[in-house]
Amino acid sequence: MANQNEKKLIVKKSWCKGCGICVEFCPKNVLALKHEKVEIVDMENCIKCGLCELRCPDYAIYLGGIEDEK
Ligand code: SF4
Ligand code: SF4
Repeated sequence: MANQNEKKLIVKKSWCKGCGICVEFCPKNVLALKHEKVEIVDMENCIKCGLCELRCPDYAIYLGGIEDEK
């Protein structure tokens, strides 16, 4: 299992319906809506709290393990 620090924020744009919930809940303003899809605008600030993952109704954003990148 990857620990929290090794996790990476992953966005599945095709699943995102642009509701903006994750943008609202992110405490660090990491996310923004662009062209009705979520976009990571400030990855440096992400504290990997997982709130976006928790709130997204469409499983379009989540903290995945490094292995998910492959
Ligand atoms: S994990 Fe937390 S800080 Fe990072 S984008 Fe999601 S809500 Fe924002
Ligand atoms: S909460 Fe999910 S569906 Fe809504 S904007 Fe964020 S990633 Fe897209």
